[in-house]
Amino acid sequence: MTTVTHLRLYDTLSRGDLEVAPGDGKVLRFYCCGPTVYGPAHIGNFRTFVLQDVFRRVVELSGLPTRHVRNVTDVDDKTIRDSQAQGRTLSEFTAFWRKQFQEDCGRLNLLPPHVEPGAVDHIPHQIEMIGKLMEGGYAYKGADGSVYFRVSSFSRYGRLSHLEERELVLGASANDADEYEKDALADFALWKARKPEDGGNYWPSPWGEGRPGWHLECSAMSHEYLGASFDLHSGGVDLCFPHHENEIAQSEAFTGQEMCRHWFHITHLMVNGGKMSKSLGNFYTLGDLAERGFTPAELRYVLVSSHYRQPLNFVSRDKAGQESFPSLTAARQALERLAKAARRLAERAGNPPIPSYEELCRGVDPGIFDPAWQALLDDMNTPEALGQVFTALRQIEEADPVSSWSGFHRILAALGLTLPEPQAAVLVPPEIQALAQTRWDAKQGRDWAKADQLRNELASLGWQVKDGKEGFEVLPLAT
Ligand code: AMP
Ligand code: ZN
Repeated sequence: MTTVTHLRLYDTLSRGDLEVAPGDGKVLRFYCCGPTVYGPAHIGNFRTFVLQDVFRRVVELSGLPTRHVRNVTDVDDKTIRDSQAQGRTLSEFTAFWRKQFQEDCGRLNLLPPHVEPGAVDHIPHQIEMIGKLMEGGYAYKGADGSVYFRVSSFSRYGRLSHLEERELVLGASANDADEYEKDALADFALWKARKPEDGGNYWPSPWGEGRPGWHLECSAMSHEYLGASFDLHSGGVDLCFPHHENEIAQSEAFTGQEMCRHWFHITHLMVNGGKMSKSLGNFYTLGDLAERGFTPAELRYVLVSSHYRQPLNFVSRDKAGQESFPSLTAARQALERLAKAARRLAERAGNPPIPSYEELCRGVDPGIFDPAWQALLDDMNTPEALGQVFTALRQIEEADPVSSWSGFHRILAALGLTLPEPQAAVLVPPEIQALAQTRWDAKQGRDWAKADQLRNELASLGWQVKDGKEGFEVLPLAT
């Protein structure tokens, strides 16, 4: 019997919803472009990775096994530049940031991919691909010694990002930058000739010393771990052009087969209506949020509470310009409501064990949570699913507790939400309470600088304050 999932998901290529189905009828094989490991990943990157994780969970909880490959970009213009600036070897530098990334993924409850390959370990495969592309007339060596893909040789170039709707001349020039804008359509580098600023980061090849271009790594690794043609490919929307367009051109010119049937792109997270950037002081990592007392589970809730095809605006300041994170605060309250409902349901169902993820994947009775599950199958509508969960909880006292228990846990597992444990009473030392009171008074007197300074002082002592309308609460800082 062929197992099929009934998840329907928007496809960037055909611009319509497609059923997510495995080509071989058995295992859904998908590739996600992974992080460039040159610093901590930010909450925008995690929007993409968390929604890819929800995608995988929905597929698996529908009874369909997956093979999930996500690469690590451990050689490119940025990793080389920053490792050199810090006087560290490229491998030492990227190993450090790779580990940080994996730890953050664990904190966010992301299922680890089945394979997480790095580009540097696949250079022979990339060289083999370039050789065949040269033989086929798809690539040429430029005057600067680099090897370029000839965009005009691949007639399907631009189909994914619908470049035909833009009047651009294909293959007008050559560009060896790893990243470039839509207007800079050009032949792109497959092999980048060694430059003095690359330091020791070069490898031998039939075209001289150098290193592979960024786009090629995903073609090589998806081919190695998923084969010439696989089921689905994903990334943030910025990758659609040129990265994914270039991947298709390289892979399809190399194999002669359609690289992948379904393209899943996640719209960007914005901060206060704009781009996140260090210079604007609105660049947040998990560590930045932890310093302010917010947990990864709260961030995950925020990330799944908007639809992946809508921009998500993360607000971090109030009108007066003071730091304030309304969505994270709302997420904390929502998770507490869910935890309370889970405890009540457990009581009514006779305190059964929480079903394991594997058990849930074998199929469970959705009970009154079926509308929430249906919302997930309908283009992964996570905000609608959450809304349906709260609607179901309003009828829970009349519903069968056993199927409600399994149905509720299936939705939590699909969204990857972990619920807070009931808080044990915490004893706040009097000097901490006094500092928090001084901060509250400063805030009431609109002395923001002093209030901020006191909040930082409390944080350095391991405490956080939560403000309400009437007063404040002191809590240990979340880890
Ligand atoms: P990078 O490490 O820059 O290669 O990005 C890793 C992933 O995060 C890619 O899939 C990007 O498309 C995605 N990404 C980058 N910035 C954002 C953002 N602001 N919102 C959502 N996804 C993003
Ligand atoms: Zn990629």
